[in-house]
Formats: sequence, structure tokens, C-alpha cells
Amino acid sequence: MSSTIETMPLALHAQRAAHDHIRRKPQPRDADVIIIGAGAAGIAAARQLRRHGIDALVLEARNRPGGRAQTIPLAGQKVDIGAHWLHAAESNGLVRQAERLGLALSEASQEPLLMTRGGERADPSDHDAFMDRWEAVYDAMLAHPANGPDLAAGSGFSRVSGGPDRFDDTIRFLHGAFDSGVALDDIDACDFAAAQDDSDLFVEGGYGALIVRLARGLPIHYETPVTRIDWRGTGVRVETPHGTLSARAVLVTVPLPLLQNETIRFAPHLPPEMLQAIHALRPALYEHVVLSWPDHPFADAINRLVAFEGDARENLGMLANIDGAHLHYADLGAATVAACADPRDRAGFVREFLTARFGHDAMARCDVLAASDWAGDPWTGCAWMYAPVGAYGAREALRQPVGERIHFAGEASSATQWGTIGGAWAEGERAADLIRSGLGRPAMPVKARVA
Ligand SMILES: Cc1cc2nc3c(=O)[nH]c(=O)nc-3n(C[C@H](O)[C@H](O)[C@H](O)COP(=O)(O)OP(=O)(O)OC[C@H]3O[C@@H](n4cnc5c(N)ncnc54)[C@H](O)[C@@H]3O)c2cc1C
Repeated sequence: MSSTIETMPLALHAQRAAHDHIRRKPQPRDADVIIIGAGAAGIAAARQLRRHGIDALVLEARNRPGGRAQTIPLAGQKVDIGAHWLHAAESNGLVRQAERLGLALSEASQEPLLMTRGGERADPSDHDAFMDRWEAVYDAMLAHPANGPDLAAGSGFSRVSGGPDRFDDTIRFLHGAFDSGVALDDIDACDFAAAQDDSDLFVEGGYGALIVRLARGLPIHYETPVTRIDWRGTGVRVETPHGTLSARAVLVTVPLPLLQNETIRFAPHLPPEMLQAIHALRPALYEHVVLSWPDHPFADAINRLVAFEGDARENLGMLANIDGAHLHYADLGAATVAACADPRDRAGFVREFLTARFGHDAMARCDVLAASDWAGDPWTGCAWMYAPVGAYGAREALRQPVGERIHFAGEASSATQWGTIGGAWAEGERAADLIRSGLGRPAMPVKARVA
């Protein structure tokens, strides 16, 4: 049995590894539109603008495209170490892109396999009772009206008839820490209810690999972190370690923690309403631990979510037999990620959790191959952003352009697909269309304010 600790640096390295096929480009130059960030939102915007003949240039801090979507080779398989599910398939623009590229899409089961605290499969009557409760709670949480009072999503439990239920902790974990990256008592009821959740799909070759394909041919400058945006006078000046570039408009798609901690600064400062929106949303936490586990007990559960009856906080969700092979995700939610800042401790948590249920013998050949660390990643700092109670309106506020030349887009600005690649993609396209319509007008000067 190889040790968890020994295998970990491989994964952390892989997350930051260079993509061989990316050639270094010449020094960046001025453009009509500068897009900051080559994640799903930035790539969607660049494609949209260039399709309409607009000179758009992308500046990316890392040495690869995709941001929080990244597919890495592991044990002969392609594994997504970030986003993996194509959520809200009916409205997800990436589904169309995958189809256009001829990539196979497979359906993700919506029904978790429930395991008891003792490591047994729940018997059929318990499983049915769990599913009934799961659906009733979900319906109650979705029923919160968009203009209703400020409540936490977790208030939905009190609206389900029959009082507390033995499955409530497990359901709290699955809808909260696991699905939302935050406890249900901390997330706004409207934010939770607005997130579209119809069918989910998986894409052949990995979600990260799809985003890399869609970035091909775009003018992206890697290892070019933006440090400051100067929007005094007309247009914008975008500062990077390789020099200052001018543009008529800028689209900022970086994760919000990087704006909250002023990794990118603005001169003059952003208006108070935009600063308020940026600071209103909070980082959600969610990480993958990838296991090789030949003796696992889920042989017939292919690409299926496994749920464990247990705690609302210290629990995990598994995607068993990713793409039909013997690799599995053990996915950790907000409380465990926060408690285990070091990915090695997260891997240790997973081993302990599974050993307690399945015993040492079953775990003898279970190896941790990789553990993501998006929370500790200097260019991310979160899995996605959630709206705390009362802050749902911040997503709409983020969509308002500043001075007709600073625009924001990304998963965080999506009202209905936040926390997803599909949402980031749609937001990139939305912002590109807005920028395009604005470029027809002369650039507006702003009154200079001291930064
Ligand atoms: C573990 C995990 C699992 C997830 N699972 C799913 C899933 O199954 N399905 C799903 O749809 N979503 C999932 N998500 C969420 C999804 O990955 C994100 O919502 C989506 O990738 C966000 O895209 P984006 O373009 O908004 O931001 P990003 O992908 O973060 O792109 C922003 C880019 O900006 C760059 N950048 C940052 N700072 C600077 C700077 N100063 N200068 C230049 N560039 C900069 C970053 O390097 C990055 O490339 C998951 C996320 C995580 C962490």
C-alpha cells in the first residue's frame, strides 16, 4: 500500500503543470477589449467577441487555460481535478459545444446510492424513505419565492410535514456542504432556489479538456497576471509584469476572492455599489480527493453518487467508478475543507471515514492519487461563490458595467447557474454582447478620483 503523503505532491504538481501544446506568444499588445482570465467565462467572451470581428486579447495568470476546469492524467485515465459534471444540461452552452466537437455525453444518475453508518447498502425500504424525504425537502427549499423574506435555504426543513427525520443530517450535507459548498443555514434561500438543477451529463475526455479545446486559436497570453486597472480619462490601462496595455474596455473574469483581497487594484476605486457586490458574496469550499480502490464495494455503481448516512458537516460524497474505471472521487464539503487546510489532512480524513465504515482489510489497497486544493490556489481561493442570507442581489449588481468600460463576468455573476462552468460560459457571452454594443459609442471619460 503506498502512502497518501507520498502520492500527494504528484497531484499538487499536476494541478499547476504546464500544458505542452501551448506555445509562448510574443509580448501582449493593446487591443479593443482586454479579457482578464482564461477560464470558461473569459474563453466564452473571447470567442464571442472575435466571432464579431472585435480585437479581444486574453491575459491569464497561469500557464494554461481552463481555470477551475482542469483534466489531468491519473493512473492511465483522464480525471477532472476541478469541474466534472455538466450541470443544468438543458441550458448549459457547453453541451452544444461538446456535441459540435463530436464528443460523447453520458447521463449522470440523479439518485444517490445510500450507505448506512455501518457501511452496508441501505435496504430498499430505507432507500425509498430517504429519497422521499430528499425530494420533499428539496421541493420545500425550491418553493422559496424570489421576492420572499431573507431566509436561509435550511429554513425549508421546517416547512416539510412530519417534523425532523433521521435522514435530515445526510440531506443537509448533500444539499449544503456537498452541493452548495456551504451549510444550508448560511446560504440565502433565493440563491439556493434560483440555481437550475435539471439533468447532469459527463463529457468524454473530461470537462477541463473540453474547455482547453475551446481555447485553441485564441490570443491568450499566459503567465501574465494583471495587477492594476487604471480607468482614469478614457479607455483602460491594464498593468501586468510584462507592461501596461491599453484597451477601450476590459472584462474581468477572475474569481471574486482575488478582487476581495485586491490582487487586482483599480484606479480610481470601483464605485461603492460594485465594491459592496464584490464583498457580499462569500467563498464556497469543495474539493476532490481521487482514490484508486480496487476492492471497493460499489462495483455496480458506475459514475454514480454514493451518499453516506451521517453527519451534516463531517461527511463525504463519492462519485464511484468514474467513467467505469476503478478511480473514485471522495468529495469534501465546506466544513471539512475548512478544518483540514492541508490537502494531506483531507486525504487522511477520507481514509479514516472509509475505514470506519468498511474496515482496514477493505482499505488495504485504497490509495489516494490526487487531492485538489482550489481553496489554497493563489489564482482561485474558492470552489465558487455563494450568497449569504440577504445577498442574492449581489449577483445582479455584478453584471452592471462600471464607467461603460469595466465589465465583470464569471460563475459568481450568474443568477441561475452560479458555481458552474455553464453559468460562467453564459456570463462570458452575455458580457461580450454588452461590450460589443457599447463599443459602438464613444468612450466616456470619468472624473479622476485618487486610487
Ligand atoms: C473542486 C471543484 C469542483 C467543481 N465541480 C463542478 C462541476 O462538476 N460542474 C460545474 O459546472 N462546475 C464545477 N465547479 C465550479 C466551476 O469550476 C467554476 O464555476 C467555473 O470553472 C468558473 O469559471 P470562471 O471562468 O468564472 O472562473 P475560473 O475558471 O476561475 O477562471 C478565472 C481565470 O482567471 C485567472 N486569473 C486569476 N487572477 C488573475 C489575474 N490577476 N490576472 C490574470 N488572470 C487571472 C485564473 O487563473 C483563471 O484561469 C467546481 C469547482 C471546483 C473547485
